Amino acid sequence: MLSSLTELTLTAPPAVSRTNLTWYLNQIWQLYFSDVPRVNEVYIDYCYPWKSRLGLIRLSVDNSLTFIGINTLLQLPQVPDYVLTTTIAHELVHYTHGFGSPLPRRWKHPHANHVVDRELEHRSLGESLAWCNEWIDQCWYPFYDLQRASGWSTINNLSGARAVSHPQTQP
Ligand SMILES: [Zn+2]
Repeated sequence: MLSSLTELTLTAPPAVSRTNLTWYLNQIWQLYFSDVPRVNEVYIDYCYPWKSRLGLIRLSVDNSLTFIGINTLLQLPQVPDYVLTTTIAHELVHYTHGFGSPLPRRWKHPHANHVVDRELEHRSLGESLAWCNEWIDQCWYPFYDLQRASGWSTINNLSGARAVSHPQTQP
């Protein structure tokens, strides 16, 4: 039985793979951030397999382009889907708050007073956030170490497994 709308709607149909980050971004935006205007071009892709970062958001100097980078390890099947979706939603909260986006900046610091977690909870993503935090606490470092010890063999053929340079600035 499906216990919540979140589970129902955030599970990608079989035809959509995790390589299709744009599908995830659009779906999350439509379901949970429909009140947030997309005021510039927003581009999302996998990035480096960072050890202590799941994602980032950057704004180009001329404000025309926002880039959301996702840790390339999040496309591996060992990582639950809700870790990927929560990470994208986290970056979209930054966008909403004016970090990595041309929208008015609502706070001085992007993570001040747990504003990101509070916003996720406000947008009915609190359950996903809790699951994500639990998985990260219990599984991330062993999982990361295993990937690293294997010489990144599982990600060498995946997209984004290279060090990329980002369109600068911000958190
Ligand atoms: Zn953040």
